[in-house]
Amino acid sequence: MRFVILGSGSSGNAAVVECGPLRLMIDAGLSAKQLNLRLAQVGIAADSLDGILLTHEHGDHVRGLKIFLKQHRLPVYATAATAQVVREAGIEGCQWKVFEGGRAFAIGAAIIDSFTTQHDAVDPVGFVIHHQSKRLGVLSDTGFITRNVTANLRDLDGLFVEANYDEALLEADTKRPWSTKQRISSRHGHLSNTQVLELVSEIAHPALTRVVLGHLSADCNGPQLALRLLRECLTSLGHPHTQIHCASPSEPSEWFAL
Ligand SMILES: [Zn+2]
Ligand SMILES: [Zn+2]
Repeated sequence: MRFVILGSGSSGNAAVVECGPLRLMIDAGLSAKQLNLRLAQVGIAADSLDGILLTHEHGDHVRGLKIFLKQHRLPVYATAATAQVVREAGIEGCQWKVFEGGRAFAIGAAIIDSFTTQHDAVDPVGFVIHHQSKRLGVLSDTGFITRNVTANLRDLDGLFVEANYDEALLEADTKRPWSTKQRISSRHGHLSNTQVLELVSEIAHPALTRVVLGHLSADCNGPQLALRLLRECLTSLGHPHTQIHCASPSEPSEWFAL
């Protein structure tokens, strides 16, 4: 299994997971033009994708979906509530594959586990993608990590997780009104660096090959800060060899093999 982050941040999120010959996109929050461009940059023909999994309906996760699906006919996997709001927003004609949050389902040889996240969307989910003996966890846009989420993310080989803000930087930020700060840091907002470290402390184990951080706020977090904190955390836990990376909003990452 390998995966690549096409882009991650409040401006748009999309990733591709490859399980043998199976290629799945997770979210389509970049413009269709950028999705096509970045897929080409990472050596993927858009028509070779086998489907798109949606975490939730926010614009930074579905922005390019409508036009991308006109160009490339692909099944879209979403919970019933997410599929409904995306359809109501005018994205039609695609082949919807509805799954129930919390239930596992198969796509080709991959098993997809979904779990409910805590975010101000209709039915947000995260995923664990299993293929052969490998497990990749995907946790984006959640304000709070429940015990159920932690339980789902045990025994991973790879984790992609949002590290949206640093508490001190959010507190000190003068651009955002108080209400926005409240929404971000609420139990239905986004994860802070501290929450990511708490999660990693719970689930780190010797076979966790890599952790990729995403959805960093441009003003209230920074790759160097988030990576330094994560490195210190993993080292103190006795896992100095876990590889860590930070996804960029503006360009694709390298391919990450598990
Ligand atoms: Zn969101
Ligand atoms: Zn988002």
